[in-house]
Amino acid sequence: MSDNMEKIKCLIIGSGPAGYTAAIYAARADMKPILYTGMEPGGQLTTTTEVDNFPGYPEGIDGPTMMVQLQQQAERFGTEVRIGMATAVQFSKEQGGWHKVTIDGVTEVHAQTVIISTGATAKWLGLPSEQKLRGGGVSACAVCDGFFYKNQDVAIVGAGDTAAEEATYLSNICKSVTMLVRKDAMRASKAMQHRVNNTANLKVYYNTEVDEVIGDTVVEGLRMVNNETNEKMEIPITGLFIAIGHKPNTDIFSGQLDMDETGYLTTHGKTTHTNLPGIFACGDVQDKDYRQAITAAGTGCMAALDAERYLATLEVAMA
Ligand SMILES: Cc1cc2nc3c(=O)[nH]c(=O)nc-3n(C[C@H](O)[C@H](O)[C@H](O)COP(=O)(O)OP(=O)(O)OC[C@H]3O[C@@H](n4cnc5c(N)ncnc54)[C@H](O)[C@@H]3O)c2cc1C
Repeated sequence: MSDNMEKIKCLIIGSGPAGYTAAIYAARADMKPILYTGMEPGGQLTTTTEVDNFPGYPEGIDGPTMMVQLQQQAERFGTEVRIGMATAVQFSKEQGGWHKVTIDGVTEVHAQTVIISTGATAKWLGLPSEQKLRGGGVSACAVCDGFFYKNQDVAIVGAGDTAAEEATYLSNICKSVTMLVRKDAMRASKAMQHRVNNTANLKVYYNTEVDEVIGDTVVEGLRMVNNETNEKMEIPITGLFIAIGHKPNTDIFSGQLDMDETGYLTTHGKTTHTNLPGIFACGDVQDKDYRQAITAAGTGCMAALDAERYLATLEVAMA
């Protein structure tokens, strides 16, 4: 075995709620997991100041603190947490085969089971004012942050089913919702469009984009621009939700694991099994519908249990 290669029972890729929960369960089952954090140790929640909906924190908790606690809990049972990116994979198609994962282009890890929890990345408009006010009223998650804008005026950008669903979700909490659609029609299903058009406090502007998010440290307003007439209009808002989609972090698995048309990993039925034996997926990387910390953690638990059962079947076969 070369110095740069090691053989382990369980490799976890990603350090969000899914990865750390998988690590807690895998470590307690004596699978001696090694977890690589990737470029964002702690995952998406490290970019938010308030998590109010994760059970067990009656006063809420800030995202970075919660993720440090999850890491500590995983380490308490013996998970080895390492900084590093999985840069290439060569998965075996055989039951009981060794899966090769290259870390940072140099280290090779051979694992009997691999738990993939690499998450998904929200897409942003890319405007400087939007980036400046992320966490100060600009959010990519209405279900996570909508509650903070109760009875306030907010806006949402997007035209698909998720944007339409989040817009109607916000309309139940907020005083008013302004929806900006870049083209002259929504992409959302007819049923969702019908819901949007029949919501009294939800107003849609078509052919309209964000020109600037107004505010120094918190959102105070929005300047919109009609992309046909160039006409600009300012409205006072306190929250802006960007709902233009997510990109699952699955590029390195392409060609080896089954994915849907947008790159989310496909899992079988109610399990975390992928199309290959010994490879499991959990969290946002395989979930485009719920995308919450608690659902990521739940599937992280499932992935560790699925991996443990898989290892047990190998032991039985070898006995
Ligand atoms: C601003 C914001 C606020 C949110 N607020 C809430 C909230 O209040 N409540 C809630 O329930 N949810 C909230 N969410 C959603 C929640 O953060 C996600 O649903 C959850 O983090 C998904 O967990 P995950 O473990 O699947 O992936 P992520 O948290 O996305 O973590 C993915 C991990 O994979 C790693 N990774 C990626 N590629 C590689 C690679 N090649 N090699 C190694 N590692 C890799 C990354 O470094 C990261 O550690 C929020 C999201 C955002 C963006």
